[in-house]
Amino acid sequence: MSDTLLDRRNFYINGEWVAPAVANDLEVIDPSTEEACAVISLGSEADTNAAVAAAKAAFPAWANTPVAERIEKLEALLEIYKARTGEMAEAISMEMGAPMALASTAQVGAGAGHIKSIIRALKDFEFERPLGEHAPDNAILYEPVGVAALITPWNWPMNQVTLKVVPAVGVGCTMVLKPSEVAPLSSALFAEMMDEAGFPPGVFNMVNGDGPGVGTQLSGHPDIDMVSFTGSTRAGVAISKNAADTIKRVALELGGKGANIIFADADEKAVVRGVRSCFSNSGQSCNAPTRMLVERSIYDEALTTAQEVAEKTAVDIASKEGRHIGPVVSEVQWNKIQGLIATGEDEGARLLAGGTGRPEGHDKGYFVKPTVFADVDPSMTIATEEIFGPVLSITPFDTEEEAIAIANDTPYGLTNYVQTTDNEKARRVARQLRSGMVEMNGLSRGAGSPFGGYGQSGNGREGGEWGIEEFLEVKSISGWNPPAE
Ligand code: NAD
Repeated sequence: MSDTLLDRRNFYINGEWVAPAVANDLEVIDPSTEEACAVISLGSEADTNAAVAAAKAAFPAWANTPVAERIEKLEALLEIYKARTGEMAEAISMEMGAPMALASTAQVGAGAGHIKSIIRALKDFEFERPLGEHAPDNAILYEPVGVAALITPWNWPMNQVTLKVVPAVGVGCTMVLKPSEVAPLSSALFAEMMDEAGFPPGVFNMVNGDGPGVGTQLSGHPDIDMVSFTGSTRAGVAISKNAADTIKRVALELGGKGANIIFADADEKAVVRGVRSCFSNSGQSCNAPTRMLVERSIYDEALTTAQEVAEKTAVDIASKEGRHIGPVVSEVQWNKIQGLIATGEDEGARLLAGGTGRPEGHDKGYFVKPTVFADVDPSMTIATEEIFGPVLSITPFDTEEEAIAIANDTPYGLTNYVQTTDNEKARRVARQLRSGMVEMNGLSRGAGSPFGGYGQSGNGREGGEWGIEEFLEVKSISGWNPPAE
């Protein structure tokens, strides 16, 4: 192995960087070059147990610190995070292939935004409140759930890590973070920031590992009180089953297959915006609008526009400046996407742009051609399975009812999108969509709004007061006489 590889083999346990109990190296692959760029360790049961034990020992004291003290530490974290933005952007860009223009803005920015808005929500949260005027001697206390296992994916690494770590430490939980083994470099940097911010030893621990190893050890561990997981529906099912024996709380943020309903009266940018949004982050977003449903009277026009946008979408290496999209994260994902594009053609969808194989000019790197399919029947594989690549399906519809029915005909229910200039229709459709989020006319949701899904998109809500409540137990007490003022 080359000496120049970044060495990230150690874990952060009980306030220190420690070597793994058993050496088990894994190379981190830069998806733009297919070359190893760093080496980590996959943890073993001994590492998992050490991290859980540290978190368990730290819990009683941390749970009893005043919330103001915990917020102070989070404010320190925010300053450190902002000061190390450049390093963080480089780590994310290298590990998962986001071009620097995206890594340094949306990817890193999501983390800073969540730290800031969760601090605000913590300041407003009433951890102790009266039951109501009808029962003056009853109090409701919100208390930290205990030791949390936080398991995160590779596609928006700091977005997911901050949405879990920040509310968890803020309410007084202690934790073990297991980031994605595919994109672990940003989390190693984040662990350095937690250390620098001065959280007491054991409050935050980080162990690398894979799903069958550390992931499974955590979800079944008797001393873990809660698992907060973001990732595939497949892993969410496995985690829920493994967590059942110890009745731990499981919060799941899973996949999606978002519909983007474009009515004939939509604004003129709606189609362009929808295609770009589907391709953003190389299509690797759980909330991507991957099923574009277009009212028949503007269907042909929309196809021409979508084809043009796809053909103009540049694909290039992540380290290069510019507004291109990068590679997808790994060889596994590249192969999966190629298979699904081929299935789209086999099942009779009309290929308007892209297709299988690498884009011109790239014989290395996990690059995928920006791909658009037209005349996609809602029952086709590309319209039902999450592809997680820059692949858009377009389907015509005739009536509002039909569009809603197609949008809701999925086991997922994360984000749906509506484009129309008719406000009443927009609200009517939004109410009928079975998803945790609806974004209309290109307006993104506000900071601190709840993120999460219906159905097989999961059962959790992250962000704002909802993200805080996920990490809390509710205690009901009678005979509670508040201290005299
Ligand atoms: P993944 O499920 O393969 O892995 C996610 C994490 O879970 C990794 O840390 C992995 O090591 C771990 N893991 C895998 N199997 C496990 C098991 N059996 N037990 C415990 N841990 C296990 O997902 P991925 O490929 O990293 O991420 C892509 C998926 O994440 C997509 O399906 C995407 O839609 C979803 N996602 C959802 C959201 C959301 O908020 N709803 C956000 C981002 C990504």
